[in-house]
Amino acid sequence: MSSFSNRVTRLFGIQYPIIQAGMIWASGWRLASAVSNAGGLGIIGAGSMYPDVLREHLQKCKAATNRPFAVNLPLLYPEIDKLIQLLIEEEVKIVFTSAGNPKLWTSFLKERGIVSVHVVSSSKFARKAEEAGCDAVVAEGFEAGGHNGREETTTLVLVPAVVNAVTIPVIAAGGIATGRQMLAAMVLGAEGVQMGSRFVASEEASSHINFKKEVIRSEEGDTQLMMKQLTPVRLLRNEFSRQVKEAELGGATVEELKNLLGRARAKKGMFEGDLLEGELEIGQVSALLDSILPAGKIVGEVWEEFMNGLKNPLKIS
Ligand code: NDP
Repeated sequence: MSSFSNRVTRLFGIQYPIIQAGMIWASGWRLASAVSNAGGLGIIGAGSMYPDVLREHLQKCKAATNRPFAVNLPLLYPEIDKLIQLLIEEEVKIVFTSAGNPKLWTSFLKERGIVSVHVVSSSKFARKAEEAGCDAVVAEGFEAGGHNGREETTTLVLVPAVVNAVTIPVIAAGGIATGRQMLAAMVLGAEGVQMGSRFVASEEASSHINFKKEVIRSEEGDTQLMMKQLTPVRLLRNEFSRQVKEAELGGATVEELKNLLGRARAKKGMFEGDLLEGELEIGQVSALLDSILPAGKIVGEVWEEFMNGLKNPLKIS
C-alpha cells in the first residue's frame, strides 16, 4: 500500500491521484469499478445513459467495488434534473460536472454532502467553478478528446494558469496517458491527473472493439478539433470527419452542420463500431497507445512510471 497522500487523494479517499475520465459510450460500471479497485478514481460517464441505464450502472458499480467512485454529468444533458435526483437516491458521493455553468447545481450537490468537481478549459471558468463552491477543478487542455474548450489552450499552458488562478486542487487532463506525462503535469502544479483516451483502450471500457483497435492503430496527426461552430470536438479522422471538414471548408452554416451530424453519431462510432460513418471522439495521446490493457494494469503502470520518474526526472546523457 502506497503512503502517497495529497489534497486530491484525501478529497476522494483514494490511493493514487489517477482519475479515469467519464467518457460517453466507454465508461460504464465495469471500467469505473476496475479503476477504483486498482486505487484510482473510476467514473461512470452519465452523458450517454438514460436514467434507468445509469441506475443499473450505479447499482452494479456499488456491488463491484467498496472503494470510492464518481459520476460525470455533462450539464447540457437533456434530462439533467432526473439524473441529479437519481444520484441523490443512489447516494453517489462524488460528482464531476462538465459542459455547462457550475453555478447551476454545485450548491445543491454540496448541501447534500456530495464532493463536486467541475471540468474547465480556462482560468476564467476555473475561478467561476471555485466561486460556485467546487471542491476541485479538472483543467482540460486542447489535446483532449471529445468536447473541448473554444480557446484551444494546451495542457502545458492551461495547468499552470489554472493553478495560479484558484486555491482549490487542480487535476490536469488532456494529453496524459503515461507516468512521465503525469509527472510533468504534477510538476506544473496539478495534484492529480484525469485520463480518458488511455482508458478507452482498456479491456473494461464499454466502447466497441473496432473503436478500441482504431484508437491504438492511430498515429500522430490522426485527430483533429472540428465543429467549432457547434461544440468543438476532437475526432479521429474517418469518412465522417472528412465530410465535416469538406463542409466546414465549403462554409457550411450551423444548420447544415447540425444536419450532417444528425443524431446519435457518437453512439454509432464509439459504441456500435461504425468506423466510417460514426463520430470517433479521442484525444491526441491516442498516438502513443499501442495496446488494449486491463484498467487495473493501466493504473499500476502509470503509477510505477510516475514514481520512477519522480526519483530520476531528467534524462541527462
Ligand atoms: P445526440 O443528440 O446526437 O444523441 C443523443 C445520444 O445520447 C443518443 O445516442 C441517445 O441514445 C443517448 N442518450 C442518453 N440519454 C439520453 C436522453 N436522456 N435523451 C436523449 N438521448 C439520450 O447527442 P451526442 O451523442 O452528441 O451526445 C450525447 C451526450 O453526451 C450529451 O449529453 C453530450 O453533452 C454528451 N457528450 C459529452 C462529451 C464530453 O466530452 N464530455 C462529448 C460528447 C458528448 P439512444 O441512441 O439509445 O437513444
